Amino acid sequence: MAKKLFFAQILAHLSVIPMIVYAQPRHYVWALGIYFLTGCLGMSMTYHRLVTHQSWTAPHWFEILGLTFASLGLTGSCVAWCAAHRMHHQFADKPQDPHSPHQQGYFKAQFLSMFSPIRLSALKSFTKNPTYSFFHRHYWHIQFVYVLFLLMMDPFAVVYLYLFPACLLWNAGSLINTVGHRFGSQPFHTADESRNNVFLGILMWGEGWHNNHHRFPKSSQFGRTFWQLDISGLLIRLLEVKR
Ligand SMILES: [Zn+2]
Ligand SMILES: [Zn+2]
Repeated sequence: MAKKLFFAQILAHLSVIPMIVYAQPRHYVWALGIYFLTGCLGMSMTYHRLVTHQSWTAPHWFEILGLTFASLGLTGSCVAWCAAHRMHHQFADKPQDPHSPHQQGYFKAQFLSMFSPIRLSALKSFTKNPTYSFFHRHYWHIQFVYVLFLLMMDPFAVVYLYLFPACLLWNAGSLINTVGHRFGSQPFHTADESRNNVFLGILMWGEGWHNNHHRFPKSSQFGRTFWQLDISGLLIRLLEVKR
């Protein structure tokens, strides 16, 4: 998994070159659309708030859709991503944290965050779930089917509807781990360096209210005041199934 992901992310980062050389403005708009699907619906609402923290109850159709989009974001399978994130909360900014800039350094935390070793016990809690297990086992099949579909549509679509948005998501998501643990305000006293950062709040659909999140990890709402825009949180309010 890790080697394939590393190779795929090299390609994703290289996609910046054809985007600069060949892309029209409409290609960037499409790429941002995919970044919304993979980043907001996928990583933020599904991998992070639904699967890892179980902070809201999603309709089953959304869970499947969100897991599909998150998989196509190329940040790792739901099992690997969520296990790494559970470890992050358990050991935030301590030596066992898989992506603390204070422990691993900024470069590793920013670019190699998904390649740190994950404890088996953290993985097991997700592999027991048949849906998560399915998306883990078929992670690369999902990529294959999507790439095949894009190639049939337009070969350049692999760049602007897959690789380039994956590069954006990798870096934006990692900024939460690095900048979000260094720069910004810390209204809540937590045993880590998590910060609220306005720029990251906008860039990552509300994920940038990271100090709020470390203080209230079980809450699906990361914005704590009316001006803290949390797009993912707003969408969750619309979609949530009341228990
Ligand atoms: Zn979290
Ligand atoms: Zn954090």
